[in-house]
Amino acid sequence: MAGPRRRTVRDLRRNNRATVLRKLYFDGPLSRQELGPLTALSSGSISNVVSELVADGLLEEAGSVDSDGGRPRTLLRVTPRCGHLAGVDIGETRVRVELFDLTLNELARVDAPLPDGHHDAQDVVRIVAAGLAQVLGEAKVAPDALIGVGIGVPGIVDASDAGGAVGAVVHGQAIGWDAVPLEAMLRDCGELPSELPLFVDNGAKTLGLAEMWFGAGRGARTAVVTLIGSGVGACVIADGVPYQGSSGSAGEWGHTTLQVGGRRCRCGARGCLEAYVGAEALLERWRESG
Ligand SMILES: [Zn+2]
Repeated sequence: MAGPRRRTVRDLRRNNRATVLRKLYFDGPLSRQELGPLTALSSGSISNVVSELVADGLLEEAGSVDSDGGRPRTLLRVTPRCGHLAGVDIGETRVRVELFDLTLNELARVDAPLPDGHHDAQDVVRIVAAGLAQVLGEAKVAPDALIGVGIGVPGIVDASDAGGAVGAVVHGQAIGWDAVPLEAMLRDCGELPSELPLFVDNGAKTLGLAEMWFGAGRGARTAVVTLIGSGVGACVIADGVPYQGSSGSAGEWGHTTLQVGGRRCRCGARGCLEAYVGAEALLERWRESG
């Protein structure tokens, strides 16, 4: 009978590496001395983990700072070119694909406009695959140097089988997507490395997370980040974590009823917030007002 899994020395080492990398990724550059209190690891552990990560090419030195009367302290940071990430924004009017180094410096970007209301899922998959190939080519980065692709989409994402056979499924009423298995379609298109991790989520949520990591939300534990464009969405961060709601729909702010029996919304309901402040709605109301 299998007992509870015991934490091995290897688990501990991996945790320590992840803790140090995470701290340096979000708050670096930092010295070894600063890492101690920030990670609650002993100076010996910090020293070992840092040596390993430097030897693996994941960390590098980034200058030094004076310490009071003592030897200058060497600063450490995550090595920008030790890995690459791609971000894909499937919007209502265009698909944007961007390639970044590990510290999120943008290396290349492609924008592909989507013809009016034309969101055939198979076409979008082809555009995403072609966009990824193009940014990798422009930045001269090998596909196997990509460590993951994040994909923001309009609508509700069912990620209960993310990474599995079905993968993440998108319910995007505004773009006519009804249970589109986007993750599986991208995997099956034959143009992405087979083991490449794909992360599909609602576009307002990905925007919210980015703001929390590197934007206006840095250091905050509670925040609401709103996206007002063609669609209207929001990301609610509670205690540092995006609030998902029971069905992953917590960010569907645009379809909150503002006025009972009000303006017709693209979702079919009446009086949604989006029917008043979404880009299309604003233009329509402007025309109506003469
Ligand atoms: Zn609506």
